[in-house]
Amino acid sequence: MLLYTSASISELEIPGKRSLVIYISNCQHRCKNCRTSYLHLAYGDSLKYTFNNIFNLYYNYFDIVCFMGMARKH
Ligand code: SF4
Repeated sequence: MLLYTSASISELEIPGKRSLVIYISNCQHRCKNCRTSYLHLAYGDSLKYTFNNIFNLYYNYFDIVCFMGMARKH
């Protein structure tokens, strides 16, 4: 199950685009110099059941969706 910790609009992630940024927790990677180590823990709400609400809430304010963190290694 994908858990997310927060969602917001950002103009920093993709140059020239407004992004809906969704932070996914339970990241199994341990990248050197990770800036979001709080995503290593499994916590938050189910994205499966709330993604449509988030998408519709911010619909008029973003050009692209960015998922930050990764729940599993591939
Ligand atoms: S994928 Fe992202 S959140 Fe996970 S360890 Fe790497 S930089 Fe940190």
